[in-house]
Amino acid sequence: VHEGILRRQSARESAARTYARALPIVPVRARGLTIEGADGSRYLDCLSGAGTLALGHNHPVVLEAIRKVLDSGAPLHVLDLATPVKDAFITELFRTLPPGLADNARVQFCGPAGTDAVEAAFKLVRAATGRTGILAFSGAYHGMTAGALEASGGAFDVRVARLPYPQDYRCPFGVGGERGAELAARWTESVLDDPKSGVRHPAGMILEPVQGEGGVIPAPDEWMRRMRQITADRSIPLIADEVQTGVGRTGSFWAVEHSGITPDVMVLSKAIGGSLPLAVIVYRDDLDAWQPGAHAGTFRGNQLAMAAGMATLAYVREHRLAERAADLGARMLHQLRGLADDFECIGDVRGRGLMIGVEVVEPEAEPVRDRERSSVLAGRGEALAAPYWHGGADERAVPGGSASPGGIGGRRSGAGGLMGPDPDRAV
Ligand code: PMP
Repeated sequence: VHEGILRRQSARESAARTYARALPIVPVRARGLTIEGADGSRYLDCLSGAGTLALGHNHPVVLEAIRKVLDSGAPLHVLDLATPVKDAFITELFRTLPPGLADNARVQFCGPAGTDAVEAAFKLVRAATGRTGILAFSGAYHGMTAGALEASGGAFDVRVARLPYPQDYRCPFGVGGERGAELAARWTESVLDDPKSGVRHPAGMILEPVQGEGGVIPAPDEWMRRMRQITADRSIPLIADEVQTGVGRTGSFWAVEHSGITPDVMVLSKAIGGSLPLAVIVYRDDLDAWQPGAHAGTFRGNQLAMAAGMATLAYVREHRLAERAADLGARMLHQLRGLADDFECIGDVRGRGLMIGVEVVEPEAEPVRDRERSSVLAGRGEALAAPYWHGGADERAVPGGSASPGGIGGRRSGAGGLMGPDPDRAV
């Protein structure tokens, strides 16, 4: 049975299936961290539903919440109708929001996937500002549908400018640390202030407080505060993509809380549905420039997902699981850093809370550990940080070389799309 299922699926599913396809496992049961294969073998599930399983598989409170809806005879799908299940979800969601947003927020249900909510956020800030461009960061991942709105009628010209995201290990300025973050912030400022850049008046800026698919790269708090200041000074709505970082994973309920900033829009999905598909944006109510009917999406009224999500949010809040993630994460980082000292193939260990990345490298290809490299290259960042403008509209590039070109108008096409990294890494 097991072999047959694997054979048929690999013959019939598209070649776009990701790394999980390489695993010869046919899970039939799951609980907590463990999944059990059809052949009786048990595994620790490190896939974790791509970050949707804040409470692990089949947590009793999630199952109970789903059962309750099923047994009550409630409609499973309600579009935008008001229901007790939805009311409970929204109430709990608002209870968790960062101060500054909790009192004046609106929510839009966007459909099943994080990418739906990202598109909705772009549409919202375009409507609110009357502008089009979006500032995003090198290494960012926001979903697979950046071209979807254009394909639906060309009403939205997707324009994305990419800016350097601060990081120590592969610092685009070669200096890392606070200095690298400062240079990255200045780069963003210089782009926004340069009359020739073509991105002086974008509709919004989108960032991940910890880049997930880009390689688990936590943004320094000070850089987050700079981005908040830079966007606030220029009336650019700041969109925090917390699809992956939310619901306690990074050691606070939402990852923006580490830096204390309040974004104008938050994009939420994955764990907020308690393992079922759910995506929303939450935003400052004065951005609500939408006319009735301006945004829709068939699967925005999934009551099972709202019930599972409400149970998950409440459980994480009541049991202070964010604090637990902070404690466990600190221990794990400490241990992993110890391993990194012993193993050359561990290039870097980084993360926040339990969102942790271990960069596995080929030691010969990475002859200089980053701290050494930083000192080797110290000073180079100054030169790089000065002019971001290299000439033609399509030649703007993020420093550091390998990052994608992509000034406004500098479109990329094909797999990965405008915003995606290597599709093989996408989940
Ligand atoms: N934003 C971030 C930060 C993500 O990590 C992801 C998914 N990995 C998405 C958006 C897209 O979510 P989805 O795959 O549900 O469309």
